[in-house]
Amino acid sequence: MIDPPLKRIRPEVRSADGYHLTHYDCPVKLNQNESPFDVPDDLKNEILADVRTRPWFRYPQPMEMDLVEALADFAGWRPDALIVCNGSNTLVQLVLAVCTRPGAPVVIPSPSFSLYGLYAGFFGGRVVPVHLAADHTFDLPGIREAVRRESANMVIFGSPNNPTGCVVSNADLKALLEQTDALVMVDEAYAEFSDETARDLIGEYSNLIVLKTFSKALGAAGIRIGYLMAHPEIAREILKAKVPFDINVFSHSAALHILKHDGLIRERVGTIRGERERVFAALQKIDGVRPWPSHANFILFEVSNPARVFEGLIERGILIRNVTSYPLLENALRVSIGKAEENTLFLDALEGILKDTCV
Ligand code: PMP
Repeated sequence: MIDPPLKRIRPEVRSADGYHLTHYDCPVKLNQNESPFDVPDDLKNEILADVRTRPWFRYPQPMEMDLVEALADFAGWRPDALIVCNGSNTLVQLVLAVCTRPGAPVVIPSPSFSLYGLYAGFFGGRVVPVHLAADHTFDLPGIREAVRRESANMVIFGSPNNPTGCVVSNADLKALLEQTDALVMVDEAYAEFSDETARDLIGEYSNLIVLKTFSKALGAAGIRIGYLMAHPEIAREILKAKVPFDINVFSHSAALHILKHDGLIRERVGTIRGERERVFAALQKIDGVRPWPSHANFILFEVSNPARVFEGLIERGILIRNVTSYPLLENALRVSIGKAEENTLFLDALEGILKDTCV
């Protein structure tokens, strides 16, 4: 009898659940923290015209140097220590693949973006979760203690953290980076919506890795571009494991053109930050809702009957994210900041559902 081929699959993968996102068709989509603003039509046309002139029958350059250089310029970091990939999810996977030996302790605040723990586990890492503090901020003493106790190989922060919106300050980050030679990966997918960035520390700390994406503030989740910045020696090692030619001709061109419009990016980020404050203040005024302060383009809030609220919003054509399965968040929902009119629809609907639920 031949062994079933399934036994060839690594047990870490077989026992995992994978990443799931249920699809709902709702006209108001506030569930994935995308930008509510699309790439403007004239910019799309500019990109499409450029893509037409490129040779589609050739492989792109193996390491897309012109895009790397444009990003280095944009982010203020060295091109020889910057890596571009298909979205920052891919970079999380790449870094963990390069750094995780079987049993290696990976300290991850909890709750945080589910892919960190999922990929760490796939590569045989031992996830060491450290719960957020009661006020939903990072428990830095707890994280530092876990790093020491476990001799951690890596620490992963989402800053701002998904789904809570808290940030790690540079002062706390420095203290951690000085305490340990573990690699500290800071996923800054939402950093443009906050006043914190670890970008300025990369030159000082060789154990710091910073991830960025085009999917949120840059308003281009569809093109799937993310990039990593680190010390040149660390970046060189990570680069060895990157798939060559993975950035396709469309995404490459789109990224180059979008970067030229940093004024528009800043303006839109300003609008989204303003709306976040308006939505937060409005949520605070609704009876039965407890919003948590956020440095990102989403807000976490608690209600006594989250399943009813989530379904009620869907019935009214508004999709948000149910995060009740996350540790510590059994009553929580997360709403992305949309356009002003979408946010108002959401707030009115939420208020209506809570009133109906009371009677
Ligand atoms: N990091 C965090 C913290 C996220 O929440 C997300 C998207 N939900 C990503 C990364 C994904 O980024 P990308 O689209 O660049 O893969």
